Amino acid sequence: MIIKIKCPICTASNKLMETNLQCRRCKNDLSRIYVIKYHSYYNRIKTIMSIVKKDYNEAEKNLTKAVKFSTEI
Ligand SMILES: [Zn+2]
Repeated sequence: MIIKIKCPICTASNKLMETNLQCRRCKNDLSRIYVIKYHSYYNRIKTIMSIVKKDYNEAEKNLTKAVKFSTEI
């Protein structure tokens, strides 16, 4: 999954994927930020899928996880 991440060190905009987790400018390791954002997006997608299936209890659980990961950074 390609995720846009702004480097917290040099503020460069980056498009990161599993095979490239360094800042394009300062080469800072952004892998931890990538993992947190990945889990946030993954749980948002699961939330949408649960709503489509009208499983609202599961949707609430997935949304709670997505918010948890979104607020970690
Ligand atoms: Zn940087």
